[in-house]
Amino acid sequence: MRLLVVEDEPDLNRQLVDALSDAGYAVDTALDGEEGHFLGDTEPYDTVVLDLGLPLMDGISVLEQWRRNQRNMPVLILTARDRWSDKVAGMDAGADDYVAKPFHMEEILARVRALLRRGAGHASSEIEVGPLRLDTRASRVTLDGAAIKLTSHEFRLLSYLVHHGGRVVSRTELIEHLYDQDFDRDSNTVEVFIGRLRKKLPDQMIKTVRGLGYCLEDPNGKCTE
Ligand code: CA
Repeated sequence: MRLLVVEDEPDLNRQLVDALSDAGYAVDTALDGEEGHFLGDTEPYDTVVLDLGLPLMDGISVLEQWRRNQRNMPVLILTARDRWSDKVAGMDAGADDYVAKPFHMEEILARVRALLRRGAGHASSEIEVGPLRLDTRASRVTLDGAAIKLTSHEFRLLSYLVHHGGRVVSRTELIEHLYDQDFDRDSNTVEVFIGRLRKKLPDQMIKTVRGLGYCLEDPNGKCTE
């Protein structure tokens, strides 16, 4: 899952990026509204954390322009604690959730997890595809109840596939959603990690759909494009 953090206070920006990276997400970052707006307008993020008080372009305007431009990714806004009117304006501008400053990082992480699940159409914090179960809170995957040992890269990839289980996901989509903007997009990293994951999963669970991509298949279901 790939996230964007738009926050102009350098320390807070760094804390958010560090915490979200540690949680296994690819994170891009912007320190002002203009750059944040540009990135959100051009890159496919799974969720955005957006401060409202930003230089060059305020957060409400950034959000309004994204929504006007059909950029529909989930957005979590950061508001000042005593400014209830900011929360109302932010939600009306198209935010999905808010956190008031100062906040506990755990709250940001929990709200981001919820937005990512909802964005992929899941309500529960545990997502199942056949015998696979992803616990999004514990960042853990089990197969028929037994934990699977995964590296952080493997987990990131499998987590994305589980969130989108039963749907064909292209290699480009995987690269765009698993790596930050500095990633070398010509590399065959995705194929390598798919190969490693296949060794840890039942045969044919990750299907290759020729010319289209990969699909984590529910044994009872089918892959849809
Ligand atoms: Ca600010």
